[in-house]
Amino acid sequence: MTHLATTEEIVAVEERLHNAGFQTGKMRGTEVTLIGVYGDITKISPDEIMEMPGVEKTIPISKAYKRVALKRSPDGTPVYSMVRIGNVIIGNGNFAAIAGPCSVESERQIMTAASMVKNAGAKLLRGGVVKYRSSPYSGWEGIGSGSKQALEHGLKLIVRAGKEFGLPTVVEILDPSDVSLYEDVGIDCIQIGEPNAKNQALLNRLRDTPLPVIHKRGNSMDLEAWLLWTERMMSGGKENIILCERGVYGPNTYTRNMLDLGGVAALVQELTHLPVAVDPSHGTGKRDLVQPMGRAAITVGASALLVEIHPNPLIAKSDGFQSLFPEQFENCMLDWNSTFGFCQSLNALYVPSYGLEKKYERQRDTSTRKEAA
Ligand code: PEP
Ligand code: MN
Repeated sequence: MTHLATTEEIVAVEERLHNAGFQTGKMRGTEVTLIGVYGDITKISPDEIMEMPGVEKTIPISKAYKRVALKRSPDGTPVYSMVRIGNVIIGNGNFAAIAGPCSVESERQIMTAASMVKNAGAKLLRGGVVKYRSSPYSGWEGIGSGSKQALEHGLKLIVRAGKEFGLPTVVEILDPSDVSLYEDVGIDCIQIGEPNAKNQALLNRLRDTPLPVIHKRGNSMDLEAWLLWTERMMSGGKENIILCERGVYGPNTYTRNMLDLGGVAALVQELTHLPVAVDPSHGTGKRDLVQPMGRAAITVGASALLVEIHPNPLIAKSDGFQSLFPEQFENCMLDWNSTFGFCQSLNALYVPSYGLEKKYERQRDTSTRKEAA
């Protein structure tokens, strides 16, 4: 409530909240009166309360995703987490590219792809061993599909390639019952793909793995829903999670998905302490857009890029159209590493509103008081 609010106005707000079934608490200061509202605040309209006489503002102080939510030090500075994949650290000022083919196709292909990743200077190797396909007739569901033996064989191929080139591995999982196999064969990070972004059984199971998890966004999820599904893992004590924006449904049907970089900026500046990755390959579906969108993602705060590359995208078994050629990828890495360094140096120019709002509120209150006198 504003410092000019009358007792009647304060009581009216309390009554409105009580009638709506909420308990309230009150703190009267010299500057403001705070009315605390307890309960599920998603059940009231802040606008309706805002319109009542004497109300200065409504401040949501709790988020339903408590563990995922961004925490701030007392001066308002955000406190970010880092996540380790193998020997690579991601987040809080550490950038890494995770690159590799959409799918592991053969020993030769994944070895060549891993050498491409290493030579270009990326730090982690990706590759799908079982693929989620919307059509049952696509003919390719990954080298690891069909049996546990096939899955183990496929996982071992990428682990071998990763070891050969010193690259920790990131592999998507489809089935909760496979988690221990991924751990046993030595996969370094488990990816939850878009179709499984809200697979309750899988997310529950991943609470218990020591492996870091990359949680991709579902393509029709708003940010809150996504963060609540991540909270599900964290509520079981899991901490080493990276979020990955990979595009959502939207009116831009020219690109495969709409890469929500506004959402990434919101995650990084306001919503979460977890590192945020961006996948410009699935986010655009066009290899010629991967470099600029990767660069854009870094400028809004992405700590990692997840990128599809192939020794020869023209013969790739999946997603060749969005996979980078070796020559393109080398240049992308030069671009993205220097973009990241440049953006780090620009961070000092970022002035968050938090402190300014306090300063200008004081100025406004002083002038209102002068006018009243
Ligand atoms: C992938 O990264 O291999 C993939 C299939 O991406 P998504 O789940 O985001 O579609
Ligand atoms: Mn793909």
